[in-house]
Amino acid sequence: MVANKELEAGEEVVTEMPFVVGPKSFTYPLCLSCYSQWPPTLDDKPLCSKCGWPVCSVECENQPQHRDYECQIFAQANEKFNVAAALEETNENGIPQLECVTPLRLLLESEKNPERWNNEVKGMEDHNKIRCQKGHWKSDQVNVVEYLRKQLKLDRFSEEQIQTACGILDINSFEIRTANGYSARALYPIVALMNHSCVSNTCHSISPTDFRVRLRTTVKIPAAGELYGSYTHSLLPTMLRREHLLEGKHFACACPRCSDPTELGTHMSSLKCNKCDNGIVLSLDSLDADSAWKCTHCEFSTSGQAVRRVLQIIQAEVDAVETISGADGADAIQERETVLKKYHSVLHPRHAFQTMLRHSLTQMYGRVDEYLLDDLPDVVLEHKIDMCRLLLQVLDVIEPGYSRIRGMTLYELHAPLLFVAKTLWQGGVIDEAALKSKMIEAAEILKEATKILCFEPPETPEGQIGLVAKQSLAELEQSINDL
Ligand SMILES: [Zn+2]
Ligand SMILES: [Zn+2]
Ligand SMILES: [Zn+2]
Ligand SMILES: [Zn+2]
Repeated sequence: MVANKELEAGEEVVTEMPFVVGPKSFTYPLCLSCYSQWPPTLDDKPLCSKCGWPVCSVECENQPQHRDYECQIFAQANEKFNVAAALEETNENGIPQLECVTPLRLLLESEKNPERWNNEVKGMEDHNKIRCQKGHWKSDQVNVVEYLRKQLKLDRFSEEQIQTACGILDINSFEIRTANGYSARALYPIVALMNHSCVSNTCHSISPTDFRVRLRTTVKIPAAGELYGSYTHSLLPTMLRREHLLEGKHFACACPRCSDPTELGTHMSSLKCNKCDNGIVLSLDSLDADSAWKCTHCEFSTSGQAVRRVLQIIQAEVDAVETISGADGADAIQERETVLKKYHSVLHPRHAFQTMLRHSLTQMYGRVDEYLLDDLPDVVLEHKIDMCRLLLQVLDVIEPGYSRIRGMTLYELHAPLLFVAKTLWQGGVIDEAALKSKMIEAAEILKEATKILCFEPPETPEGQIGLVAKQSLAELEQSINDL
């Protein structure tokens, strides 16, 4: 996808409605309409009165996306949802019976909406040649192809057609979030045309109510410049991003960030050398996972596999602490700080894992019980400021411009800056002129945060913060004028 004219940062380039929305692969038991966890309570297991599949209410039973699609097929075939099997604790890889729902919706939509199917969806990448050599193909063959053709008596769809539907969904789906915070997947044929880069120049927002997607630029793009989206998590180190892309999207990324062992100077993959003082251990060829890693200052070297093992251990610990939510209170902060400190001597200070933890921590200091902004001593406020600034050094490179994550981080940075300035002034450490200049600095940061977050749909948490930020900015500018 290429710009036909110069595009400013923050310009909307594409907006479209999804072709299909449905549960993700390997899903937990859920309501087929609102994707909330099912059953809603242990002793209430509501099923659709027409088809006997899980929905959470009569309202959800009558939502068109269920009523007009799989509901009719399940009812005609008299195929019921197996509640006992779905609630067994061994369903670690999701409920096999639910795998068919989204591919089925896609196939039915191709019949209901042949024009859009033919023009936009049919030609999407399915990677069937690669997928057919992988394990997931076999489970799709049982859970989707045979299930649709035999149990649901849909032999009007060929095996190839069904596998293609699975492939198109696997390769091209976007994760979406409902207003209640549940996730599902959706297909956006135009937005999906965009190629991947680990440093994208666009950002998309999806409305949690009607799932409309809006794609906008995050930086200025020259005429004829290519638009890139990211198909992976930008806060992962190169080795893991490339594995994720190869596994899930079937290509070996060779973008400028992946090709540079220093990750464009961010050092998100770099390790500290434990054999010398200031050495950094880097891959000799970051496009080859088996390449040796070598210290920049001494003779120390190690293998790619050894680095992979270290990453695996740290990732397990990071993943474990990242599941502790802010609602759990002080532990959420302390456990993350512990892991951050533990690997201080192993990882570069801007390493992806440190960056990931820092990202969560900047969102938590000031919001978690016992750590509300009013309660934080100056030293902790300074700590939050330092973390936001370090995080921004990385984000300015890998998520430049008007990206959501930069907007959120700038927002988190402005408040402690104001708190610290106020304490310094109240304690007589700085005069009114110095206070004013610190307030102006915070206002500049808040202004950029507001600009970015106001692009987000107002029904999302980020959009809500955008509205609050706009209000605070007006108040802050007023108090600066009053000084
Ligand atoms: Zn529901
Ligand atoms: Zn139904
Ligand atoms: Zn890349
Ligand atoms: Zn060294």
